[in-house]
Amino acid sequence: MYNFLQLLFPFKTTQLVSHAFDEKFEEWDKPSRQIQISAIAFLTAILYMLFSMLNKSWATENLQNLMLKVHLFVVVPMLLVISFLAFRRKYYNTVMNILAVSPIISIICHAYIISKLPYQAPYQMEGYMIIFWTFVISGLTFKHALISASCSAIILLTTAYFYINQPDYYTMHVFWVFCSFSFGFLGALIFDQSRKAVYSSHQELHQIAITDNLTGVFNRNQLNQVLKAQIDKCTKESHSFGLIILDIDHFKAVNDTFGHDIGDKVLQQTAQLLSELTQNDDILFRWGGEEFIIVALDVNKQSLIQYCDVVRKQFEQESFGTTESMTVSIGATLLQPEDTQDKLISRADKALYKAKENGRNNCVYI
Ligand code: GH3
Ligand code: MG
Ligand code: MG
Repeated sequence: MYNFLQLLFPFKTTQLVSHAFDEKFEEWDKPSRQIQISAIAFLTAILYMLFSMLNKSWATENLQNLMLKVHLFVVVPMLLVISFLAFRRKYYNTVMNILAVSPIISIICHAYIISKLPYQAPYQMEGYMIIFWTFVISGLTFKHALISASCSAIILLTTAYFYINQPDYYTMHVFWVFCSFSFGFLGALIFDQSRKAVYSSHQELHQIAITDNLTGVFNRNQLNQVLKAQIDKCTKESHSFGLIILDIDHFKAVNDTFGHDIGDKVLQQTAQLLSELTQNDDILFRWGGEEFIIVALDVNKQSLIQYCDVVRKQFEQESFGTTESMTVSIGATLLQPEDTQDKLISRADKALYKAKENGRNNCVYI
């Protein structure tokens, strides 16, 4: 199936197999889908109102009354409710379900009305239109659309079997149902796949934007995002967290003595060592040059100082392939009430400055 899709579409389809990918994609896709559902449901309601005003001399008076009631008092309110609720994220799943059921209700009404019509041609189109609308226009996810449109197609085919007497006429009906279903199916599949391809490239670009390409750890962009979120969370919950800045001592000498490539390797090995030393949910960033930051969650002053000392000692013992033993200076602090991101970083930076002043290869907590 996936090989077939791969042949059919010029973009990646392999993500289809991943459930986690689908879940994340749906989350990302929700806002644009909400707008689509709301706008389309509203437009469809207006078109049904217009339809109700049209002269329908092709129907008996009873049927005209029935159509007026069904369209104005069932279909239009249903669509307006969908249009209204679609804007609210908490009703997303409910809207999706009502939206999937509404074409089926419409097709049942359609099938009943058309079965009573003496001259069916002017009303026939609605059935095919509903199938196409469900797949391509409505804003339903591919899965919902497929279930809904399949039910509609089955209802259209089976009911018509009883009210269409001429075989040729019924064959044409089957043909038009098949056309609307296959066009709709393919349209919705292509739409779904292109949305997934856009999401996939978005994810790749996002990953590039938050990663330091030399060391593979998070970069400064991501640090800003994480700190902002973490400060908001901790302020609300009256919690704190630790911020550690590490700076390799005399790193310039490594570059000068062994060359830039070896300097790069030292930075990569440092990132590797630090990520092994980070605990639980702690997050490591390259702050710039030969400076790294660790956001240490779930620490107090004492455990933070102990942790910094472990890191410092491990670093000293690490063999980097350079002749001299390498050391690191560390500044650490805890988030205080009223702290902003800048205040927090500048306090840790001050601590680092003091560690350098104290002769390097030591940790200072402020
Ligand atoms: P200190 O103990 O005071 O921190 O001295 P230092 O030599 O470590 O600090 P300084 O700021 O003088 O030098 C940092 C050096 O890091 C200078 C710069 O060329 C080097 N550097 C920054 N980014 C990279 C990089 O991506 N790769 C390599 N190889 N070197 C880098
Ligand atoms: Mg530095
Ligand atoms: Mg340095």
